[in-house]
Amino acid sequence: MRRVLVLLLWACVASAVTARGEDESCAPVDIAPGPAPTGARVRDYAPIFERCAREDESRLAIRRMSVDGMPLILTVDPQSLQTSLERASCWRCEETSDAAQAETRYLQALHPPQDPTRPPALVNAGLIHSDGDGAFVTGDLCPSRKPLDRSFFEKLAAQGPHTPVMLAVSGGWIARHGADFAWLRDKARSGALDIAWANHSYSHPYVRRLPDGRNYFLRPGVHVDREIFETEKLIIAEGETPSAFFRFPGLVADAALLEHVRSRHLIALGADSWLALGLRPRPGSIVLVHPNGNEPVGLKIFSRLIDAGAMPLPLRPINEAP
Ligand SMILES: [Zn+2]
Repeated sequence: MRRVLVLLLWACVASAVTARGEDESCAPVDIAPGPAPTGARVRDYAPIFERCAREDESRLAIRRMSVDGMPLILTVDPQSLQTSLERASCWRCEETSDAAQAETRYLQALHPPQDPTRPPALVNAGLIHSDGDGAFVTGDLCPSRKPLDRSFFEKLAAQGPHTPVMLAVSGGWIARHGADFAWLRDKARSGALDIAWANHSYSHPYVRRLPDGRNYFLRPGVHVDREIFETEKLIIAEGETPSAFFRFPGLVADAALLEHVRSRHLIALGADSWLALGLRPRPGSIVLVHPNGNEPVGLKIFSRLIDAGAMPLPLRPINEAP
């Protein structure tokens, strides 16, 4: 009897160890930032659209790559929109299509019904408002020589643990702000902030005083795929995970650009409450500030609204907006 018990106990321990061992090797990948240049670490980066399954889980994979020699996929949970980097070897994947996934929340966010009151062309392209309560705080990190406005993030963190904020980051900003990026990453890892990293292009083309219709991504010679992928690669090499959101530089796009970004399975995001322009938040607002040193007035307004209780609450994660 005793021998049976011991054997049973041993079998339990052994199976727990195996299960944990498997779990660990297939857990979402944690990439450590390193000194090697991004191009040497993140290779063979390509857009895909595959349905991937493992045990009772299913995801949609939108990129494949190898990082430090390990084959990885960037996946999106089709209902929660949460992204994660996964080992390719842990999933069985097969090609899929937008039509085949049309019923998922993700594809419905990518292909929203056209609002007849809004023309399709396009300042403030994409999702600008959400149903329901609260507000979605988003900050654009366009290329800047100025330091990050850290006090804005301290103010956010003071609202409670895991305060959500979406940062639309440009590759050009990351390239110049290694220490600021690491500071933000620490804020996320410590649980102070819940940061979703959106893509704000790499070079963020902009010429002062040019009209919108010939500026930003509508400049001649903009290589849209390079702008998207080089920024994603940089986010990944810095140890973070790109979200499924894209914000056009200047919030300016035309129908062809919107379609291009959609074909890369990114949800375009505008804003209906750009604080520095005097656009007040209301319930469901997507609030826009620039914590890159270029727009302190917006941050001042943000702080005043919070202190006065005039910011719609709760602050919500961007994955809930579409
Ligand atoms: Zn910008």
